[in-house]
Amino acid sequence: MRIALVLLLVAAQAAAAATFDSSRAWEHLRQMVAIGPRPSGTPAIEQTRKYIKDQLAAAGLTAVEQTWEDRTPIDAVRMTNLIATIPGARKERIVFSGHYDTKLYREFRFVGASDGGSSAAFLIELARVLKARKNPFTVEILFLDGEEARLPEWNGTDNTYGSRHYVAAARRDGSLASLKAMILVDMIGDRDLTIRRDTHSTEWLTDLIWAAAKRRNHDDVFMSETTRIEDDHLPFLEAGVPSVDIIDLDYPAWHTAQDTLDAVSARSLQTVGDVLLAALPAIESRLAR
Ligand SMILES: [Zn+2]
Repeated sequence: MRIALVLLLVAAQAAAAATFDSSRAWEHLRQMVAIGPRPSGTPAIEQTRKYIKDQLAAAGLTAVEQTWEDRTPIDAVRMTNLIATIPGARKERIVFSGHYDTKLYREFRFVGASDGGSSAAFLIELARVLKARKNPFTVEILFLDGEEARLPEWNGTDNTYGSRHYVAAARRDGSLASLKAMILVDMIGDRDLTIRRDTHSTEWLTDLIWAAAKRRNHDDVFMSETTRIEDDHLPFLEAGVPSVDIIDLDYPAWHTAQDTLDAVSARSLQTVGDVLLAALPAIESRLAR
């Protein structure tokens, strides 16, 4: 009886740990926004990295830093991607990624609650959940630096520095071959969350996620309308990795001083967490074929 009870408790804890908890994600979001503007190459993004690494460590994960110096149209910037690996039954991996830098603005205070904050906060909580899950594939949680353009406008190669660096490094060291799928989240904090199907993204991957959203009655958020987004998934797609961008660019506070805690909600993070975790078994089945 006592053993049965203990087993029951252990099972209940495992089940609880495997559920996305948006109150935890919200706390991460709040803490990172409190750091202030977090552009690449600043002490504030260094502080953000420390926060992410400490939170991952608390979940039993060690983040590896991938650091390089990149040339931008205005300066040379030291950038760092953070990579946390959760070993699975197979060595081939599924990558969940998002950026944690915020866009550089000198004329106003930009704290990027949704743009930079939501993706990083989401990934910290997702890492905790997936660490507690039995994963058929190895899972990599990838925090990208340098998504934002250094100049005001998004042009040429003045953006997606982190994803381009990561893919180039993976090509060089041969680890690209075991990268089976990449799921990108960006700006998923919007209180009024609406996510359109990005037509750059891989269709089967998009279909599986949208089907999971429909099953969970989130087809009001994961809409059937399409859009076309340039983001950190493009370098992966160009390298032949099936990839999808989960993004809400229909956000009035986008790249303004209003992208603050008032414009975002824990509920939106919960919706995306529930949908991606619901879609994951189908993605794994497809990749195992
Ligand atoms: Zn942005």
